[in-house]
Amino acid sequence: MNCIFCKIANKEIPKEFIYEDEDIMVFPDINPSAPVHILIVPKKHVPEMIAVDDPILFQKIFQVVQKMIKTTGLTGKPHRIGINGGGLQDIDHLHVHLIGQMSRKAEL
Ligand code: 5GP
Ligand code: ZN
Repeated sequence: MNCIFCKIANKEIPKEFIYEDEDIMVFPDINPSAPVHILIVPKKHVPEMIAVDDPILFQKIFQVVQKMIKTTGLTGKPHRIGINGGGLQDIDHLHVHLIGQMSRKAEL
């Protein structure tokens, strides 16, 4: 499958991870819309949020989102968590945007 996030997960494309475990990888967005803009991505290919069939995956993703809010210093500071879907997304491999330290509402 020609999926860029699968290639990153499979290490076909080298990428420095901010965080990685068995199921989840986190790396900076290539085109950040605020000083903090990172992507929390399941390694397994899931096209979008509505296609998740394992509730444990939600748990794993959002535990890492919480961890990233803490480690990027965004606890108690303005931030936004966003997931595009239904064709609004550019990349058809589920990813959660964590955006912070914005001066105004940054676009996802
Ligand atoms: P979407 O619109 O699918 O929710 O967002 C895709 C995001 O992935 C965009 O914010 C875009 O800047 C980012 N992106 C696209 N290609 C790459 C890439 O090759 N590497 C990284 N790190 N981010 C990417
Ligand atoms: Zn994929």
